[in-house]
Amino acid sequence: MGPTARFFFALAFCAGLPAADSTAPAPKRELSIRVYNYTTSEPNLLLHARRQATEVLQKAGIHPRWEQCRTSDAESNKDSSCTRPVGPHLIQLRIHPREMAKKATKRSVEFGYAVPLTDSFGVIAGVYLDRTAELATSLGLDVHVVLGHTMAHEIGHLLLGSNSHARTGIMKPTWGDREIHLAKTGVLRFTEAQAERMQAQVAARLAHSPAAALLGPLGDAHPKTPN
Ligand SMILES: [Zn+2]
Repeated sequence: MGPTARFFFALAFCAGLPAADSTAPAPKRELSIRVYNYTTSEPNLLLHARRQATEVLQKAGIHPRWEQCRTSDAESNKDSSCTRPVGPHLIQLRIHPREMAKKATKRSVEFGYAVPLTDSFGVIAGVYLDRTAELATSLGLDVHVVLGHTMAHEIGHLLLGSNSHARTGIMKPTWGDREIHLAKTGVLRFTEAQAERMQAQVAARLAHSPAAALLGPLGDAHPKTPN
C-alpha cells in the first residue's frame, strides 16, 4: 500500500473502471512468490493471508506459487524450492514486524512497500504486519483479509511498474469505506486493464531464464534488513 494509504476518514470515490470479471477466461500465468516472515505471527495467519492474496491475484489471471523460506540460519526452510536461484520469475515478499516498520518509515499510515524498477523487473515487496493488524482490528475485519489484500496490492506494484496507483480497485492508493467493504465481501480487485498488464508482465518474466537471475546467485540467502 502506498505512502498515502489512509483508512480513517471519508473520501470522495470515483465510479472508475470496471473491476476484472472473475468469470472471464484468463490465461494461466504462474508467478513464484518467496515469503520471508520476520515476525512471530501465528503460521495460520500468514496461510490465510496468502489464500486471500491468491484469490485476488487469481481473479486477475495470476496464479501464485508460494514458497515459505527461512530468515535466519537458525531456521529451516519450509519449502525445498527455497534453494532455487532468484530472478525476475520469482518475487520476494517480506513480512515485517513493528520495529522494522519504524526503522523503514515513521509514517504509521504506510502498510507496505514495493520496489518496482523502471528498467528491469522489480522483485522486492513487503508488508508491515503490526500496522496491518491494528488497522484490521480498528475496522472490525479479520487481519488476514487486510493483510492478504495489502500483499496483493504490493505485488501489483511489482507487476505494474512505477506509477501504478489507480483511481479505483485494489491499486487505489487511499482506501476508504468503499474499498474496505469490497475487501470484506471479496470483490476488491484489479481492473481488467491492470490484469492484462500483469499477465503480460508475468509472461515476460517467465521468458527470462533462471540462469539469468536478476539478483545473482543468492540461492538460499535470506535478506536481513527491510527495504
Ligand atoms: Zn500502493
